[in-house]
Amino acid sequence: MRDKVLVVGMDGLRFDRLVAIRPPVLSALMSTGAYGTSTLPYGEPEAPRTESPGQIVPEEAIGSPAPTHAAPAPEDARANNDDRPTDAPRSTDDTEATDAPRSTDDVGATDAPRSTDDVGATDDPRATGEEEESVRVIRARTDSGPGWASIATGVWPDKHGVVDNGFAAPQFTKYPDFLTRAQEARPDLVTSAFFSWAALAEHGAFGPAIGTRFVLDGYALTWSVADRQVADAARDHLANAGPDLSFVYLGDTDEVAHALGPLCPEYTDALLLQDAYLGGLLDTIRARPSFGHERWTVLVTTDHGHVDAGGHGGVSGEERTVFVIGARLGEDLGGVRLQDPRPVDVAPTALDRLGIAVDPAWDLDGAPLAF
Ligand SMILES: [Zn+2]
Repeated sequence: MRDKVLVVGMDGLRFDRLVAIRPPVLSALMSTGAYGTSTLPYGEPEAPRTESPGQIVPEEAIGSPAPTHAAPAPEDARANNDDRPTDAPRSTDDTEATDAPRSTDDVGATDAPRSTDDVGATDDPRATGEEEESVRVIRARTDSGPGWASIATGVWPDKHGVVDNGFAAPQFTKYPDFLTRAQEARPDLVTSAFFSWAALAEHGAFGPAIGTRFVLDGYALTWSVADRQVADAARDHLANAGPDLSFVYLGDTDEVAHALGPLCPEYTDALLLQDAYLGGLLDTIRARPSFGHERWTVLVTTDHGHVDAGGHGGVSGEERTVFVIGARLGEDLGGVRLQDPRPVDVAPTALDRLGIAVDPAWDLDGAPLAF
């Protein structure tokens, strides 16, 4: 049997809406697989919410006096983002900006008036035995950049360096994505990534060493069109190339939630359509002539939620609640509840399923999920 892994990301998918809407394919994966939710260990209190997909910073946050008692540090960080737009030299330079002065801001942010419960993260709380109480503080917005970078790398924003959608100082050389890790560990593997948020390629969140990168511009196409093209391309690739490890991103749920909120019928429709695309991918896998000799693990996750009115970036439960669904095609695991599965667990889980041992030197925050 040859192990293969498909990771599907759905942007801005609120788990409570998923449960209420009950899209058939995702629901079947949950009932035959394993799933659970966790809370992102970061979020910016008091800051304006991101109002469109991929928006770097809400404009009100720039130049205007900070509302009430916001600490100066986050304001400085935003100014950095504002400085780096289009003419920035791209990925290679970005990944080398290691010792950016941001670090001092991060330290300063520790003193910011915030609810410490919200952002304090302990290193792998599930590790049994010694409970080393860490005072680790992760300063990041509950935005797509930090979310997908955490899913890709298996570490939180204080390590991978993406604290908002500006990608000011990513550390993807030190913390590469799981596809790149797999490709380096096993050059024989076929790896591929399909996504419509081009920033993830430009800044190296999903790096150039991945065997196939299919990158669209969701802004130009709209995310609904991009999702269809991403799904089509991924389906062809799954049928013909049979990648050992692949990542497929669908983004319309986020775009609709930004425009109309996640409680509207349009959000339901967007989710149902993404669910149908997922179903198409799974049908394609099952129809592979070699499927009987393959053992497929499917992981589905999201990067953040949305407030009821639409938007994210802050610390509410609606924004910080994320989920992971895991399943093995052709096996019934019975809908096992996972204990606090985190986005950073996706990368090590995918690598583990391919028989690639996680090297402690990688300094990952996540751990393989047991299902
Ligand atoms: Zn997002």
